Formats: sequence, C-alpha cells, structure tokens
Amino acid sequence: MSTDIRLYAFQCGSTRIPLRNHILGAGLAGEMITTPVIWFLLTHPRGNVIIDGGNPAEVAIPERKHWGKILEMSSVEMSPDEEVTVVLEKHGFDLADIRWIVQSHLHLDHTGGVAEIDEFPNAQVLVTRTEYEWAHHPDAFNDMTYVQADFVKPGVPWVLLEDFEDGWDVFGDGVLRCWRTPGHAAGHQSFEVNLPSGDSYLLAIDAANTVAEIEGRELAGIMVSATDYTRSVQRLHRLAWRADATIVAGHDPVQWATLKHAPDHYA
Ligand SMILES: [Zn+2]
Repeated sequence: MSTDIRLYAFQCGSTRIPLRNHILGAGLAGEMITTPVIWFLLTHPRGNVIIDGGNPAEVAIPERKHWGKILEMSSVEMSPDEEVTVVLEKHGFDLADIRWIVQSHLHLDHTGGVAEIDEFPNAQVLVTRTEYEWAHHPDAFNDMTYVQADFVKPGVPWVLLEDFEDGWDVFGDGVLRCWRTPGHAAGHQSFEVNLPSGDSYLLAIDAANTVAEIEGRELAGIMVSATDYTRSVQRLHRLAWRADATIVAGHDPVQWATLKHAPDHYA
C-alpha cells in the first residue's frame, strides 16, 4: 500500500449531451457538447479512496444500452480499459487497498466504483443519506439520471452520512472532508482535499460543472433546485477561500485539459 498522500485524476470516457442539459438556457437550437467523465483516487496510509469511479464497465458496451432512456438524447464513449478496476491495476494499485468509495452523488456517470463493489473486498461506500434516499426514489424529471442497477443491490456496504455530519473528515486528519453542496442532486457533496505540500483542492464535482458556473456566469442544465445550486456555489467559494484551495469543476473540458492526469498527480 502506498504510504504517501496523493491525488490522482482520471478520465473515464466522455458524454455527448444536449448543451441545454449542461448549461441552463443555452443550446436551445439543439447544440450538443462533449464533456469528460472525471473521477479521482486519493492514496492515504490508512487506505485508498475512490472518489466516484467514473462509469461502470457496461457503459463501454454500447449494445447493452446500460444508461437506458437518457441515451435517446445523449451518448457516451468509453473504452473497456477506462473502467475503474482496470485503470487501478494498470497503474499498480491493489484493489484490496481501497478503503472507501466516496460518492459525490449517485448520477449514472459517477457510479463506477459502487457498481464494481464486489471487486473491492475492504471498501465501504460513503454517501449522504439524502442522496441515497433520493437516488432510490427520484422524481420524474430526474429519474433518467440514475441507473439503479449500479447501486440497488444486496451486499453494498453503505455508510450514510447524516445531515448533522456535514464536513465529515474521512480520516480525521483533515486530508479529505465532505461538504454538502445540494442543488444539482438532492444529496450532493463536494470534497476538500488537503495535501502534504500544503496545496488544497476543492473537488466541486457536479456542484459546479464548469468554471463559468464557479464564476457565477452560468447555471447548470440539470438541477433539483436552482436556489440550492446557487447557494452551494457560494459555499464552494467560502470553503476554497478558507483552505486557499483551487476549485475543480465537475465536467469542464477546458479546465480538465489543464489538470494533471494520472499517472501524474498532486501531492
Ligand atoms: Zn450529476
């Protein structure tokens, strides 16, 4: 097991979606946009952490139509060797060293880790109770953003974060904290990562899909609450200021190109 604290960023394919689903009020003539599916690995002496894990393996097999109804308007490209277990082993990580799979939310492009839970004998899956319950019973508008086959199954070692546990410090050392940022999904959370170098990253995930959303110039196309979304973006700024952190957007192709990609990493 690695004893160093490092943050790795991976891309698990990309989605081609209507621009109106990416940015509220944009793309009304039917324009499409391609965005990366991003996930992270945090290594830690007490066990490694998968943050979301990208797409599950079935997504790489187009005939399976794993995503169901949403594929009528969107498409996804993923190579089989981008699946989380394949990627980890390719980069020399032992699947048994994964201690936590932490979920920002349970949308279909974030469930690669929990979908492969049987491959991680020592992992528990951390998600907010709010998101867990919402993902099991979303409303009609949000229904197609969840693929319940990825996470509604026996034997998932869930750990559900309660409302009063906001700011949960996963290792108790301040390296990884979970902050509630609802609005995109009911129980969404973002992650503050504080590295040994003193560098800090605030992984907004889908609390801000793009840098323009971080800067307040755009709103997301998929939300359960625009009010909560706006408040969560404001919260990201407070958290980032306090930790002197760089905010990383969830699906911004331009910012993604500027980040270090595994095996390069932040430490
Ligand atoms: Zn999402």
